[in-house]
Amino acid sequence: MKMIFTDLDGTLLNSSSEISTINAEAIKKAQKHGVEVVVATGRAYFDVQEILKKAELSNLWVIAANGATIHDPNGQLRHSVPIDAHHVKEALQWLDANEFYYEVFAEHAIYTPNSGRELLAIEIDRVKSANKNVDEERLHHAAAKQYSQTGFAFVASYEDILNTNAELYNVLAFSFDDEKRKKGWDHFSKQHDMTLVSSADHNFELEHKDASKGNALTYVIKELGGSLHDTIAIGDSFNDVSMLQTAGKGIAMANAHAEIKALADDVTLTNDENGVASVIEKVLEAQLEAH
Ligand code: CA
Repeated sequence: MKMIFTDLDGTLLNSSSEISTINAEAIKKAQKHGVEVVVATGRAYFDVQEILKKAELSNLWVIAANGATIHDPNGQLRHSVPIDAHHVKEALQWLDANEFYYEVFAEHAIYTPNSGRELLAIEIDRVKSANKNVDEERLHHAAAKQYSQTGFAFVASYEDILNTNAELYNVLAFSFDDEKRKKGWDHFSKQHDMTLVSSADHNFELEHKDASKGNALTYVIKELGGSLHDTIAIGDSFNDVSMLQTAGKGIAMANAHAEIKALADDVTLTNDENGVASVIEKVLEAQLEAH
């Protein structure tokens, strides 16, 4: 059984953050021919559900929060790797003290402080006054994309998040200030008890050290009785590295970072050119030839 693990943003989603009809039809065709298509994303599970619903896709396993949660096609949470409560607390205290916009993913909500969006608006103003030539539209687009996720729950402070006692899977910090983001990256890269990854230009994300897309891919393959050899992973960014390297074949998007393309086995078209559908078509052709 062939299995295709696909990232969402920059991969299966086009630049309008949607699954194109061509990609959706390709996935349905793959499913009809016995190819298992699995979503593997940094997004939260309920957010992924909305995106799949819009594209009228069903029967997909979903790896979310960068591998911290795995849901089967019936929506059952089959495996999860929450961050230790004291690690979350330390991280949120630090992000709070350093005035970061952040989001914390739980099973049913994305918690974020009330003050976060104002912080980002201030950052955009600062970037603008420091550099008159900045592409303001791009910054607003990035912020709007961040806010377009499903399931936000606004809180007064990080303590409210800790007080929910919910299992927390992913802490995402976002900033338009390059120096601030670097400071955050340096701070958290010194802490070896959590996984630190980045899925987009303006963010970094923290998970339990055992949570990764690569580990989640291994879990799903085992559950479905597949083999690594028959597995393809498709991605565009640094949070995809673990799965691109674990899968039998790692394929980078044409729009991926140069470093991602360099470590992949192959490169497909861009996300706006339906690169995922192109991979699926090739897999189905090869399957036909083999029979
Ligand atoms: Ca991505």
